[in-house]
Amino acid sequence: MNVSVFDLFKIGIGPSSSHTMGPMTAAARFIREVQERGQLAQVARVTVDLYGSLALTGKGHATDTAVTLGLAGWLPAQVDPDAAAKLIDEVRQQGKLTLAGSHAVEFRIDRDIHWHYKESLPYHPNALTLRALDAQGGSLHVGTFYSVGGGFVVTETEAQSPAALATGPAIPFPFANAAELLEVAEREKLSIADVMLRNECAVRSEQEVRSGLDHIWNAMSTCIDRGLRQEGVLPGGLSVKRRAANLRATLEERERNKKADPLIAMDWINAWALAVNEENAAGGKVVTAPTNGAAGVVPAVLRYYDRFCDGTQQGRHIFLLTAGAIGSLYKRNASLSAAEMGCQGEIGVACSMAAGGLAAAQGGANGQIENAAEIGMEHNLGLTCDPIRGLVQIPCIERNAMGAVKAIDASRLALMGDGTHHVTLDRVIETMRRTGADMHDSYKETSLGGLAVNVPEC
Ligand code: SF4
Repeated sequence: MNVSVFDLFKIGIGPSSSHTMGPMTAAARFIREVQERGQLAQVARVTVDLYGSLALTGKGHATDTAVTLGLAGWLPAQVDPDAAAKLIDEVRQQGKLTLAGSHAVEFRIDRDIHWHYKESLPYHPNALTLRALDAQGGSLHVGTFYSVGGGFVVTETEAQSPAALATGPAIPFPFANAAELLEVAEREKLSIADVMLRNECAVRSEQEVRSGLDHIWNAMSTCIDRGLRQEGVLPGGLSVKRRAANLRATLEERERNKKADPLIAMDWINAWALAVNEENAAGGKVVTAPTNGAAGVVPAVLRYYDRFCDGTQQGRHIFLLTAGAIGSLYKRNASLSAAEMGCQGEIGVACSMAAGGLAAAQGGANGQIENAAEIGMEHNLGLTCDPIRGLVQIPCIERNAMGAVKAIDASRLALMGDGTHHVTLDRVIETMRRTGADMHDSYKETSLGGLAVNVPEC
């Protein structure tokens, strides 16, 4: 399966790629299938069953509203958060939903979405089943989907037959793991970013790839800047105060007063990462990188490169392509889903991607880039996912700042070496996969362990 840089960096809305964007995409796919079968006009009712982690943390991750928007025909990339909130209010008040934007049925979020807290489906902890019923209650169409992390969705058929996922245009330089990526780059005398670029050009022109990368960076940058201006308390009931705007004001004041501080870059990185993840927690527009919960790491490190390392457009392209290549290795050989891997599969992967991307943008050789990516993950191994009340707020928001700072450190360490190192990136990815498999379910996006149960809520 080829994983494109545009699969990993997708524009959508918060707070979660697996619990918000994935279920929305699944519901939109389901209702499109009903339409394509010519059954939409006969539908009188739709029901949704949420299983496993989707049920356990879905309320905090807005899974119910995401599914409702998907049934209305919305896709994450098109969502205007204000218009979405208005539509959900109307559905709640009127008890009606216009499926695919064209056929109104009775729909009550509290009645028609069922939460199966104690039941999981075998393929993946994030599962949902949708049913379209006629006026007599007869089944017109049923679909089961899995939200497998980072906004990726697979159907029951695709889950049972991985070959169904392997379709797509042939790419010039396929690679299944980091060793093959380094080998192909060495053989062709290309950088990792160039290998990724050539593969991307199998489906779109180079100009389209480059303008797509600019579009991603603009969306990331807009998200940072918006987050830096917002104040107040985040939704969800935990009373978490937004901090990014205050941090920005303090740092600008220090800069105006020309107060010398050798670590001011680090404070800015913290502010940028918090800004993105506060936006995410508020249901704003973000870019998966590779997930929503970890959406602040790559933008904060890329903004650091831009502002503190004399960044260029070419350098940003190298950064994103390299980070995409690294992210694709985790997607292929482990998982981006916290419900399978814990937070190592979100913040850990984001840190690894950002470390490799920064090393590449700063002129690192392929071996140094691979080393940076490996360090970025090695020191996130075992990181659990235990969000308080299932909200992507504590520890998630701050964790992005930690991940960004760690990524920069990993990149600097690697760039000061010659690329030779003891643990390969492939070995650390496999270690992450095994650690995730061994990790108790309480620590895998269920809010049944860790901070989620050890911090009393006021
Ligand atoms: S703890 Fe990590 S993996 Fe879990 S929701 Fe928060 S950011 Fe995502």
